[in-house]
Amino acid sequence: MTQQPCIYLDNSATTPLSSAAKAAMLEAMEQYGNPSSLHTMGQEAETLLRRAREQVLAALGVRPRQGGTLIFTSCGTEATSLALFGCAYAKERRTARHILITDSEHPSVTKAAERLEADGFSVIKISTKGGGLDLAQLDDFLANGPDLLMASLMLVNNETGARYEVEEAFRRIKARYPEAVTHCDAVQGFLKIPFTVSSLGADLITVSGHKLHAPKGVGALYVSPELIKKKKIIPFLVGGGQENGWRSGTENVIGIAAFGGAAADIHGRRKAIEEHLKELYAYAEEQLAPLELRINRPIRHVSHILHLTLPHIKSETALHFLSSKGIYVSSGSACSAHSRKTSSVLLAYGLTEQEADCSLRISFSEYTKKEDIDALAEALAEALHRLVRIK
Ligand code: PLP
Repeated sequence: MTQQPCIYLDNSATTPLSSAAKAAMLEAMEQYGNPSSLHTMGQEAETLLRRAREQVLAALGVRPRQGGTLIFTSCGTEATSLALFGCAYAKERRTARHILITDSEHPSVTKAAERLEADGFSVIKISTKGGGLDLAQLDDFLANGPDLLMASLMLVNNETGARYEVEEAFRRIKARYPEAVTHCDAVQGFLKIPFTVSSLGADLITVSGHKLHAPKGVGALYVSPELIKKKKIIPFLVGGGQENGWRSGTENVIGIAAFGGAAADIHGRRKAIEEHLKELYAYAEEQLAPLELRINRPIRHVSHILHLTLPHIKSETALHFLSSKGIYVSSGSACSAHSRKTSSVLLAYGLTEQEADCSLRISFSEYTKKEDIDALAEALAEALHRLVRIK
């Protein structure tokens, strides 16, 4: 059997494990104690959790005595559920029932918001047409809208690679509603673009391990000291009181240790990785420019996600063609791929239904090489020549 090349360009879906993550996992595998046990083995496992917490907090720019809590969860989705439900239900005493999100959030936010809507909260969506947060629309809401309970705005869009101006939005929201809670889904931005807890200005930040070379099944929610002091959030998973009572359930020590190891590794080399990704984006634009396709470049964009539309060739057809050549890309986010519906995120961006259905997401990591992009460009040229076009 001939060996297929493996050109993995779907790093926004998930990433390969880094050697730092593997080393941390191997170490944690040897220490199988339960971190809640009082004996030495338990304490050793607890030490691994403490180290990972410090590593992820450091990567978020939190200094040791700055305060702020990091709650490990089973994934980014759970961290966001904790943020949204934890704040909405902590606030039942308050009159504010409005929740602000963008019109292109990940389903972990939109589905939670839908559930809150069914529970009597009201959800307002800010436009992200062209890949930019509509700050005029936000201002209009802030000037005329009712009291705000919470705003949940994503940092980087997982489908288009748009980088939203959430810092400015959070600043304006806090100026108008100082008591409103701000949450940022930073899953696609953490350790890919520079930001810190302070620069972002969000009370709550969701991050996920498997987007940065740790294994699947581990995420975290950063919670500001003020939110805890003012009791604006309550736990979502209750039980044995792990994670200082914030997230019950025996911790995934191996996954958490790997998350810490991976985060520390990237944090130490962040600038070089950012430069590499920038170079790759520019190179991909150059290589794809002669082809009959359109690169959808958001107003502000990140370097690790490149979104393109093919002329009348269904995303799935192109994806399977590329896959047959050992080149792995995405037709949308990994989650919306399950639904087979036209991506509402791409429609919100401004694509027509047909353009959205003929789009591909290419996403890079530090392991991506220019030769991978050469192979992609060559395969796409062949696809454009050979594949059947829809009317
Ligand atoms: N938010 C964004 C923007 C994402 O891209 C993803 C995953 O694709 C998530 C949240 C969910 O993270 P997890 O897969 O860890 O639940």
